[in-house]
Amino acid sequence: MQRLIRGTILHFLGDPGTEPAPASWQLFADGALLVEDGLVRRVGEAAALLADAPEGTEITDCRGKLILPGFVDTHVHSAQLDVIASYGTQLLDWLTKYTFPAERLFKDEAHGERMAGLFLDRLLASGTTTAAVYPTVHKQSVDTFFAAAAARKLRMLAGKVLMDRNCPDYLRDDVAGAEADCRDLIARWHGKGRLGYALTPRFAPTSSPQQLAMAGRLFQEIPGLHLQSHLAENLDEIKWVHELFPAQRSYLDVYDHFGLLGPRAIYGHCIHTDATDRVRMAATRTAIAFCPSSNLFIGSGLFDLDQARNAGIRVGLASDVGGGTSLSMLEVMADAYKVLQLKGQHLNPWRAFYLATLGGAEALSLEDRIGNFAVGKEADFTVLDFDAIPILKHRSGIARDFAERLFALMILGDDRAVAATYVLGELAYRRP
Ligand SMILES: [Zn+2]
Repeated sequence: MQRLIRGTILHFLGDPGTEPAPASWQLFADGALLVEDGLVRRVGEAAALLADAPEGTEITDCRGKLILPGFVDTHVHSAQLDVIASYGTQLLDWLTKYTFPAERLFKDEAHGERMAGLFLDRLLASGTTTAAVYPTVHKQSVDTFFAAAAARKLRMLAGKVLMDRNCPDYLRDDVAGAEADCRDLIARWHGKGRLGYALTPRFAPTSSPQQLAMAGRLFQEIPGLHLQSHLAENLDEIKWVHELFPAQRSYLDVYDHFGLLGPRAIYGHCIHTDATDRVRMAATRTAIAFCPSSNLFIGSGLFDLDQARNAGIRVGLASDVGGGTSLSMLEVMADAYKVLQLKGQHLNPWRAFYLATLGGAEALSLEDRIGNFAVGKEADFTVLDFDAIPILKHRSGIARDFAERLFALMILGDDRAVAATYVLGELAYRRP
């Protein structure tokens, strides 16, 4: 069964960089995407694809709209929808005051099921089709999340949060119990359909050295696992890590010591790192999830994108909801632009959309499956509507070229601009 979607098509072949290199993207003003059995069969000019389309091809006409690969959110907490927009704290108080009590509710499986469905439906309504997700410490929060993702045929990474110290009793696990839970969840979910397991120590302060060592053992032992955590988000947090792990040179060095770096490891934030850390991250091919909305909202600091990219580190964009204030990667891009303005850097729209699609896939080492419309990739995509938001319609209507329209979309867009989202070539969301 073949399906052809016609519209303006944009996808990326590499990082456009700071002075955008046109060879790094393909743009078809009147383009088409041919999907067969959930995979990309062909992309190009609509006239050529229409001429060759076999009889019976289902044609969806989205002319005037922009078809992009589904957004990739490289760091987000499915259990924190209740925490979004919580007033007046920075990281460590925010965790204690808002986040831990909200995560406690996930002990109840029915709550987890309800929230996983709501979370994934809101992702799809925002055009996001893949994410690296933190449920909670509760094993059942991972089961309900993976079940909801499997029902929607989504490519998702997630894993049980590990935390065996410096947290409330009601969220505390222990090394042996956590290892047994991880092994059981991995056996039942890892590699099932489009799901992948990510070992998820919350962050160094809430795991004992023994628990971090256990995570490192599993990471080395079981092929294809991902690993995700937080790194160098907030200055008080970093001070605390130095007190807890006095023998380690830096925060990154704690994770390195326990074998938690590597090409399938991704760390959120990484705002306050030094040159030695960055050399080590590049050498181990450890990736960064850049969370601009969250970093602004919790007041953590300004990430330096050029510094990370110049060091050769893969970087994806991330909402980090509930520290972040929106699941929409368009809004995350706008905040990334503003953060980088304050660093004296200019995030051009080509690079921003690359970071939110192929760049995110690369940061998660999933670029062989998703991220652009290369033939054979999984056909997850979103259809964006420049006319859906009055001020965006006005601004893009007077734009002199496509780059200007694209920039207006990333600065003024949000989930209202998402007309539809497709998963494996099938309609998964349509704007009401
Ligand atoms: Zn986070």
